[in-house]
Amino acid sequence: MSRNLRIDAARLQDRLARMARIGALPGGGVCRLALTDQDREARLLLVAWMEELGLEVVVDAIGNITGTRAGTEPGPPVMLGSHIDTVATGGIYDGTLGVLAGLEVVATLDEAGIRTRHPIAVAAFTGEEGARFAPDMLGALVHQGALGLEEARAIVGIDGTTVGAELDRIGQAGPAPVGTERVRAFLELHIEQGPRLEAEGTVIGAVTGVQGISWAEYTIEGTSNHAGTTPMAMRHDPGLVAAALAVLVRRLAGEIEGQVGTVGRLALEPGLVNVIPARAVMTVDLRNPDEARLQAAEARLGDELARLAAAEGVTVTRRTLARFPPKLFDDALVGRVEAEARALGHSVTRMASGAGHDAQAFAPNAPTAMIFVPSRGGISHNTTEYTAPEHVEAGANVLLHTALALAMPVAGEGGA
Ligand SMILES: [Zn+2]
Repeated sequence: MSRNLRIDAARLQDRLARMARIGALPGGGVCRLALTDQDREARLLLVAWMEELGLEVVVDAIGNITGTRAGTEPGPPVMLGSHIDTVATGGIYDGTLGVLAGLEVVATLDEAGIRTRHPIAVAAFTGEEGARFAPDMLGALVHQGALGLEEARAIVGIDGTTVGAELDRIGQAGPAPVGTERVRAFLELHIEQGPRLEAEGTVIGAVTGVQGISWAEYTIEGTSNHAGTTPMAMRHDPGLVAAALAVLVRRLAGEIEGQVGTVGRLALEPGLVNVIPARAVMTVDLRNPDEARLQAAEARLGDELARLAAAEGVTVTRRTLARFPPKLFDDALVGRVEAEARALGHSVTRMASGAGHDAQAFAPNAPTAMIFVPSRGGISHNTTEYTAPEHVEAGANVLLHTALALAMPVAGEGGA
């Protein structure tokens, strides 16, 4: 009976460990920024595994990799997807778990001789992290037509390269068209990246949606001058306004319900000990599960920053790096994840995601849901990121049974 079907936990751990060697950092963790040589090596390994499993592998024009297991009927697949790029100080589970668990689902069905009515596709999307090229979820957005291919290829990264040039350089601009692909349903297994499941002692999170994200880069320009001879009252110091903006972000997060805010990058130029800076360039990351509150945070930040800039006599320009409204997942599919987790004997809770994920690009177009497993200490985007093997196994089994319910085992076939 397919009800008793379980993934091979050792095989999944082995694949995770082998992928973790690519871009491995000396003290643990990985650095596989999107479209680097390390990313290319990981992609080639993934494609080799897909081919071993007999999947039909397609690389599209933005470098998304899809391996499809045919169904007994043609049509859009049930897609199990995530990403294999990482931040510069990444862990080995973020993204990679969702892709490799997808392979494990396929391998388990193959071994049990179970065919499904609808195809099952395993996908790895280009540049989910946004750490090298913003916005995040880049490949998934292009896949679902929310971002144009040429627009995406023209994006300039933190090192001055473009998405298009790097895709071409590593040979990952595939021949398949992109932007019109439809899926029957989309599922993503991912580590929680937060502390809640561990704190509650719950094994599975049935994710109800992703909070809204607003990323902006501010360039503040003033007057560079001598640190010793310029009277305090005559200064136009971008560094002071940058520092005040960082304090403002923290204050707004305390005042608006559900709000979080972060200044992740701040550079002063020329960056010398005895020179009032000419310019400050900084990023602000604002998130809220409620769109109206997120807009309120953006508006208040804009107003108060304008006052700070006027008081100091500096100019401010703002550039949007990414902006996504909150996305709600499919309620019935979230319920299915819950039911499959319970049927497998796991504790489960409904929760919103604090982080952005590839799944949100699919939510407007197809029934979409995510499965979370606990992150030790709530830590991720960090080399010490860790999820216990029994939690990895539990999440992959929930993915297996949810995918199977959606793809529909064919009666009369072995095990079905
Ligand atoms: Zn991720």
